[in-house]
Amino acid sequence: MSQQKLILDGARVAQEIKDQLAERVKALTAKGIVPCLATILAGDDPASATYVRMKGNACRKLGMESRRIELPKETTTEQLIAAIRELNEDPAVHGILLQHPVPSQINERAAFEAIDIRKDVDGVTTLGFAQNAFGFAAYPSCTPAAIIAILDYYRIPIEGKHAVVVGRSPILGKPVSLMLLNRNATVTVCHSRTRGLEQAVGLGDIVVAAVGKPSFIQGAWLKEGAVVLDAGYNEGNVGDVDYESCLAKASAITPVPGGVGPVTIAMLLKHTVEAAERAAQ
Ligand code: NAP
Repeated sequence: MSQQKLILDGARVAQEIKDQLAERVKALTAKGIVPCLATILAGDDPASATYVRMKGNACRKLGMESRRIELPKETTTEQLIAAIRELNEDPAVHGILLQHPVPSQINERAAFEAIDIRKDVDGVTTLGFAQNAFGFAAYPSCTPAAIIAILDYYRIPIEGKHAVVVGRSPILGKPVSLMLLNRNATVTVCHSRTRGLEQAVGLGDIVVAAVGKPSFIQGAWLKEGAVVLDAGYNEGNVGDVDYESCLAKASAITPVPGGVGPVTIAMLLKHTVEAAERAAQ
């Protein structure tokens, strides 16, 4: 008997979020406040430049403003922090996104910490992270928020399920693990020193791939009927799961592209609109 497969359509989820936001942007604009996201790109990494452009375009399509700060690859930590402080103090800017990764001479953590918590729309500060851990973050990191939004859109239960997250980065693996835990999943977090990764992945009713390695997670590792969320985005539009073999085993799966990525951008817009609404109060 062939099992029904659900392709988790991120573009559809993102569109619904953006449709809801359009009204809120209009209402703010009528009051003379145009939600504005500032993106900072340090260096000339072409993939980062593309991401920043996509974020700016998404703002404009929704009637929001975007401001692009481009800094040379020789930028120092102090110069980057000075640019962030200027944006912190600018009342026309509601959200600040520092594109990761920054050039190696920059202390990325120090730069993230310089972002005003009220404008930390990607949950990158330690305070934003901690608030998310406690379950009351104004703005959780966008990719983890996108993963939860996809599960909720498709009414996939989280409570009581075993979620296995592969990856523990501060912007993705760790916060999504905490968000799943806060939603009463039993969570296993795997990383590069995990022993028995395949067995661990095999426990997951929900598997989140946040590894940064193309086609890494294999269908043979999955429990039959697992729900697979692939946050990976590698060169050539390839995710962190081996799509074909995982599709065969999963009950639901996000494709790459068109899965987690578009919802991440929608979340960034949502958080920026919320920041503008709060600033207007
Ligand atoms: P990262 O900072 O490089 O973290 C990768 C994580 O994977 C680390 O925790 C690492 O473990 C773990 N890992 C590496 N090799 C492993 C292995 N062999 N077995 C098990 N775990 C392993 O990456 P990231 O920033 O979290 O990004 C992860 C992926 O998501 C990338 O493909 C990235 O492009 C994508 N991404 C997508 C979006 C989006 O909007 N869709 C946004 C952000 C990132 P250690 O901690 O032990 O090193």
